[in-house]
Amino acid sequence: MQIKTFKMGQFQSINSKTVRLSILDDSVALDETYDRVERMLRNFCDTNEEKEILSCWEKAVSKKCRNPLQLWSAFGLAMRALENWGKHRSFLAFSIRQVELSQEFEKSSDLFAGMDSVNSAILVADSYLNMAKGNLLMSQYKNSEKYATKCLSVLCSVRKSNLNAIKLSGYAYLYKARSNLGFSNFRNALEDLERSLRVAHDQEDRRLECFACCAMGALYLQLKDYEKGNFFSIKSCEIWTQCGSSWSTRTKVTTQLNLAEAYRKVGKIEDAMVIGEEAMKIAIENDDRSCQAYAMLCFADIHRVRKDEERSLPRYNSASGLMLDTGDQFGYMMSTIGKAKLYLQTKDYQKAIQEYFAGQKIAEAIGNKITSMHIHGELALLFQRLSNQDEARVRTLRYHRLLETMELFCGICAEPMAEKNEQLEALPCSHFFHLKCVSNNDALEMRMCPSCQKKPMKQATL
Ligand SMILES: [Zn+2]
Ligand SMILES: [Zn+2]
Repeated sequence: MQIKTFKMGQFQSINSKTVRLSILDDSVALDETYDRVERMLRNFCDTNEEKEILSCWEKAVSKKCRNPLQLWSAFGLAMRALENWGKHRSFLAFSIRQVELSQEFEKSSDLFAGMDSVNSAILVADSYLNMAKGNLLMSQYKNSEKYATKCLSVLCSVRKSNLNAIKLSGYAYLYKARSNLGFSNFRNALEDLERSLRVAHDQEDRRLECFACCAMGALYLQLKDYEKGNFFSIKSCEIWTQCGSSWSTRTKVTTQLNLAEAYRKVGKIEDAMVIGEEAMKIAIENDDRSCQAYAMLCFADIHRVRKDEERSLPRYNSASGLMLDTGDQFGYMMSTIGKAKLYLQTKDYQKAIQEYFAGQKIAEAIGNKITSMHIHGELALLFQRLSNQDEARVRTLRYHRLLETMELFCGICAEPMAEKNEQLEALPCSHFFHLKCVSNNDALEMRMCPSCQKKPMKQATL
């Protein structure tokens, strides 16, 4: 491994200021080092197969780096570029390699001459978090949760004393939450999002707040509380407008696409279209295949809702193609389900069933229980319509089993949640209820949660 060839003496002058944590800083404006790394990486991406980009790039960039820490930082910058281009597979490969580098640092404590244990722990934590992000981008939620948790345990001993460590823990909670959202573990996701928001507020980190609001919006959209979904999605866009001019434009596009979906769900179709088009424009300028895919999916959904099937289908197809290309299984699943709904609309039932089956397979593979549940629900109705009662019964059964697994029954009225657009309310213990049930419940007057009997008090988390 080439980092051992560096001379120890070169580390005397290195301190935490020379290292930039890619998780905490995504700005690309007026950044010469980033520009250099990006240009070089672009060449390697254009001339190499995807699986060879990493090794070729590392070989070349190692020669230009004076020490392993510079190489480590170059990885961070390269990943920023890869993320902005939607090159998720390469991002993940780079993040795995960066973790290896930081583990080398950890093993040979000599390499950290001039750097204290707090800062070396932060490097390791930042690498783990990049790996969590890489897995998240590929819909590999189990791994992303694992590495976000690892990051938190590395930070555990140092985060009280160090600002970067505290901020990083906020991002770790965010990625953990998004992993749990991928699995449809809504309670865990909510808890970690609240922790993340608390860090964002305490540290006045508006970028983290923007991301956390965006994820919160996605959470409530999945639970079909469209009002809260809209509230948080609008908020994340507002934060970007106020403070985001120096952040990567990908952050803007992501929040816009989230808002476009929120608008579409409440029938604000024209607004959704305007935002979607702006997002697509930026995604094309950035050469960001992943955001282009989501913008395309957004258009396909909008045309479907407008009953313009001729425009919708080709857009679903190109969204699917782009999602496959970027390795985004979640996005591919959503495109497949969109197509199924479209076929349902045109009464092409066999094709609808086919697409639902395909979507179901992905939902189960990535562990996205709520999508799995909705597909069973749709299939139950479809089979009923086709007078296939046996299959309809099986689907209904699975639908209810998943509702139970996800604890999506209101603990007050015992009716299901997330079936239709309804306002929900989460108590501080993160149990969800219908808002209307919470508003007139006796147990709550005694300050007890009807589901876990806990007193609704905030838990200290940090
Ligand atoms: Zn209820
Ligand atoms: Zn509770």
